Amino acid sequence: MLAEACGQPSYTRRTVFRFDVEARDGRARAGRLETPHGVVETPIFMPVGTAGAVKAMTGHELERVGARILLANTYHLMLRPGEALVADLGGLHGFTGWPGPFLTDSGGYQVFSLSQLRRLDEQGVRFRSHIDGSAHLLTPERSIEIQMQLGADIIMAFDECPPFPAPREAVADATARTARWAARSRAAHTRKDQWLFGIVQGGVHEDLRIRSAEGLMKLDFPGYAIGGLSVGEPKCDRDRVLESLDPILPEAKPRYLMGVGTPADLLEGVARGVDMFDCVLPTRNARNGQMFTSQGRLVIRNRRFREDPRPPDPDCGCYTCRTASRAYLRHLHMAREITAAILMTIHNLAFYLDTLRHVRETIRSGCFEDYRCRMTRIFAAPVATDPRDDDPTGS
Ligand SMILES: [Zn+2]
Repeated sequence: MLAEACGQPSYTRRTVFRFDVEARDGRARAGRLETPHGVVETPIFMPVGTAGAVKAMTGHELERVGARILLANTYHLMLRPGEALVADLGGLHGFTGWPGPFLTDSGGYQVFSLSQLRRLDEQGVRFRSHIDGSAHLLTPERSIEIQMQLGADIIMAFDECPPFPAPREAVADATARTARWAARSRAAHTRKDQWLFGIVQGGVHEDLRIRSAEGLMKLDFPGYAIGGLSVGEPKCDRDRVLESLDPILPEAKPRYLMGVGTPADLLEGVARGVDMFDCVLPTRNARNGQMFTSQGRLVIRNRRFREDPRPPDPDCGCYTCRTASRAYLRHLHMAREITAAILMTIHNLAFYLDTLRHVRETIRSGCFEDYRCRMTRIFAAPVATDPRDDDPTGS
């Protein structure tokens, strides 16, 4: 195996995967996911480490905010530095030094959203790199080969994610192709120390979603991702899709809602049986000066924070909230100091991970619904958007 060739014994330490749902409250589930690189309590949020790093964070800070599993993007890593180099240096774990589990996506979503000159056919997708214009072909077999080289604990089948809105016929074609590509992905995957998840597509059409899920279940994947949501569809459509899939997907296997979302979105997903989430929102918004707090969103550039000595979130125990005032963070943000991005990313990730810790506790104690209602009211509080508050000049 790759890891042994690189002198890393970790893969052989424990190659048995396991997922157990340990508690339920309504449709919400609290579970335990065992991987070769550690145990993950679910529901869980996975910080996004696009190119092998969560932007503005070190591994040490990620551990301190309670991150347990990271996502890395196949599309970015195949283009730079290339999967062969990552494999030579011990796979994602050896290369990055992150000791916990990794999950990689298939590269499909980024090919459709970032690359230029795409051409899609039954074989796969031909595209040009957004970095240097070089030509590439991504097929189910190639995506799986790259993901086996990268060596994440959980990897994804190659799928076609249609845009929203798209004609029903186009969504149906993409869903059927995703099913054929899932079978090819399954056949190409040979590493026993990785779990390969299938991805349910079907847009906002419940019948296509159910057909997609049932088709994937015939291939008996160890877990199922729900893709193609959070691409611009109304929230009610997303909730409806999740509710239609909840009774279809196997109870005993993990469910991963890809690319979702705000803290409120996570609570709605959990309430509909989802176990795993990822999203760039907490990290991207932190770099733009927006923080998620237990009192609602906070836009740090607002003038009213100029002399505000309070921490960003008085109810948060993260390093940022223990040491930095809103006035200091606003100053750093206006002065474009990189420390602003670091401190606000620490808080946002701590807030997401703490929220899901509360979710797990309330599911186990049978009061998730109360928690969800209370937090949903807080999250619905308006963002400070009064233009008179904005002070883009930094004065
Ligand atoms: Zn904090």
